[in-house]
Amino acid sequence: MLQGKNALITGASRGIGRSIALELAKQGANVAVNYSGSEEKAQSVVDEIKQLGVKSFKVQADVANEENAKAMVKEVVSQFGSLDILVNNAGITRDNLIMRMKEDEFDQVINTNLKGVFQCTKAVSRQMMKQKAGRIVNVASIVGVSGNPGQANYVAAKAGVIGLTKSTAKEFASRNILVNAVAPGFISTDMTNELTDEQKESMLAMVPLAKLGEPEDVAKVVRFLTSDDANYITGQTIHIDGGMVM
Ligand code: NAD
Repeated sequence: MLQGKNALITGASRGIGRSIALELAKQGANVAVNYSGSEEKAQSVVDEIKQLGVKSFKVQADVANEENAKAMVKEVVSQFGSLDILVNNAGITRDNLIMRMKEDEFDQVINTNLKGVFQCTKAVSRQMMKQKAGRIVNVASIVGVSGNPGQANYVAAKAGVIGLTKSTAKEFASRNILVNAVAPGFISTDMTNELTDEQKESMLAMVPLAKLGEPEDVAKVVRFLTSDDANYITGQTIHIDGGMVM
């Protein structure tokens, strides 16, 4: 499905990003694995991908840093020759109630989760425009649509990502660059494992399918959005949330 395509996935050393990287590789894409933390984990994803018979390498970058984002994209184009798919997946949480939230907690989340998407999108834009083709998938969150107490910073960033997706889709459409978002609900990863049992129970009570999603549930939708099957879809946000927000 993605034979010969070259992809860059941000925050791909674990969780949803790792799963997307493996899913695209299974479909024949070469995959650059961006990471900011554990080099060892990133290398193990690269090794898994290479076993699937496609090319892969790891690239360290803080997605929110303009120079890092530019250098990362340059490296991908120099190693793979082109860049067909960007998945903006990197994200963090710094949960707190608004009255207790520190300015730094707000800034960190906006920087990584929203400015990071802008920086990486800007960094790939010239290359994709030159190619007159490209796919960008942004990993937002269902709480960017519904809101969530204790996550004002995260919700603001993810709502911003949904808006950024629409604007980018309109700006890039004439160059055949399709831009969509996915909005996962409650997915089983290190990020959600940090929640207390009480928090998990109250979130699950809101899910009609009454179970957590798996990273693969997100990865398969991203695979669809990057494939030729999604040639006429742009500017959309697909909810992957077990029916939580309808
Ligand atoms: P995770 O914490 O397991 O993975 C996030 C990855 O992003 C990590 O590898 C981390 O090192 C990387 N990262 C963080 N800051 C970075 C930076 N500045 N530059 C580069 N990489 C950076 O979390 P996850 O659950 O796999 O989340 C992946 C994405 O899915 C995030 O955008 C998250 O907001 C979103 N999401 C997750 C859920 C969920 O339930 N897990 C729900 C909705 C949305």
